[in-house]
Amino acid sequence: MSEGVNIRGKNLTSTACTCGKMIQLDPGSIRKWFSGQVNYIEILCGDCRKRYADLPRIVCMTCKELMAFMEPSKDPKSGFEMKSKHHYHINRCPRCAPEATSSPILEQDAWMAGIGMKTPTNQDLIQEIEQKRLQITKDCEKLSSTFKGTDL
Ligand SMILES: [Zn+2]
Ligand SMILES: [Zn+2]
Repeated sequence: MSEGVNIRGKNLTSTACTCGKMIQLDPGSIRKWFSGQVNYIEILCGDCRKRYADLPRIVCMTCKELMAFMEPSKDPKSGFEMKSKHHYHINRCPRCAPEATSSPILEQDAWMAGIGMKTPTNQDLIQEIEQKRLQITKDCEKLSSTFKGTDL
């Protein structure tokens, strides 16, 4: 029997991975990483963990949670690179700031400032994160209502 894990203020015994698969949660199933800026948690099923292992990661500084994976890329205009296995950070995401329509990647912001260019708003990124999060939030709510009395 899973003892559950405190996530987003709720004690959950299972949650949905970004791929939709349900994950049983116990303290051993949550990976904790240091991004270079913050300690954050990663909640992924075993398949996604393998599938996304090499991709650049986006971490929300406020939620201290892994928010998205990106394809490795290099912007031909600015030279900014999203490198394999590297961490990139945003200050807010659709979960901690639902009203936000954009959230610059801090590393990109710093890079662009360094070369005197304007940072793109990353609206596509925030929309992509929001779609994934909406699904997960829905699943969490569904689950927590079936685990009455376990909320912290
Ligand atoms: Zn998955
Ligand atoms: Zn956030």
